Amino acid sequence: AEEAVRSDELVCHHDGAKGEVQWEISLLASLDRAIDNGEVWVAFQPKLDLLTNKVIGAEALARWSHPERGPISPEKFIGIAEEYHRIERITRFVLDKAVRAAASYVRDGHDFSVSVNISAQLLRNPRLPRMILEALAAHDLAPAHLILEITETDRLDRSAKTVQMMEELVAAGLRISIDDFGTGNATIDYLRYLPAAEVKIDKSFIREIDSNPGDHLLVQSIIEMAHSLGRQVVAEGVETAEALMLLRSLQCDQVQGYYVGRPVPFRDFTKHLPEKSVRTAG
Ligand code: C2E
Ligand code: MG
Ligand code: MG
Ligand code: MG
Repeated sequence: AEEAVRSDELVCHHDGAKGEVQWEISLLASLDRAIDNGEVWVAFQPKLDLLTNKVIGAEALARWSHPERGPISPEKFIGIAEEYHRIERITRFVLDKAVRAAASYVRDGHDFSVSVNISAQLLRNPRLPRMILEALAAHDLAPAHLILEITETDRLDRSAKTVQMMEELVAAGLRISIDDFGTGNATIDYLRYLPAAEVKIDKSFIREIDSNPGDHLLVQSIIEMAHSLGRQVVAEGVETAEALMLLRSLQCDQVQGYYVGRPVPFRDFTKHLPEKSVRTAG
């Protein structure tokens, strides 16, 4: 259930400036309304397969266009949603839009998967598997077309129920991706015990890949390591043709970034899909 802001949340939260706390509280209050009145929406960013040179999927990214404050960064409002028990509601919303979009492309004959960001925090919520399976059922999408990108913030430990939950989701046919691999908590350790089919290299490694030999070698090593463990590799933050060509030469499987396409509303995404992947009837 969506709880109202509790007073203890207001008191315990943040050592920062009072203004910052008040800003967060007022954002939180408007976030509760924003989903209902259409201020929150979902953008889709293409994922390009480097072997076939085709867009084979998209990442669904939450967006909030506030009527007075303008666009609010997901780094900001997702963080607030995580802290104040709103992440389940936002994820339910994003999942619904993402699964609906993927189902329509799959129906049209495209080979297409959609990726949805799942906060590590949500993996401790026993309602998660049901929420996912309900979204798939509502739009009649097979689980193989949904990828869950695990975005860290909290450490996931090996013994936790979370790993068991992931294994159940994998058994149901979904794929797990380790987001922002190589930074924060998304360490090599995750490769040992998370049932992830995909590793997504953080964009900080990609930014200078064609000018910084250290970054180049690190990315090369990550790709080799992930492949040797049977995982697919996606590079995020690909902004130039040079980076894309380099990643192709390193056998990276897929790329995502402004060079391929920015996150756009669903109605604008279709232009990224290859005509040829559509199976024509008869
Ligand atoms: P992320 O999942 O790692 O998503 C990739 C971020 O990189 C997105 O930022 C995307 O717009 C940005 N990006 C894509 N290509 C490029 C590029 O070529 N260059 C640069 N500099 N950036 C690029 P965005 O949309 O601001 O999202 C930030 C983060 O917020 C996401 O990082 C994800 O962790 C979180 N997030 C977004 N939507 C959701 C959601 O529905 N649920 C959860 N739990 N987290 C979300
Ligand atoms: Mg992501
Ligand atoms: Mg990422
Ligand atoms: Mg991130």
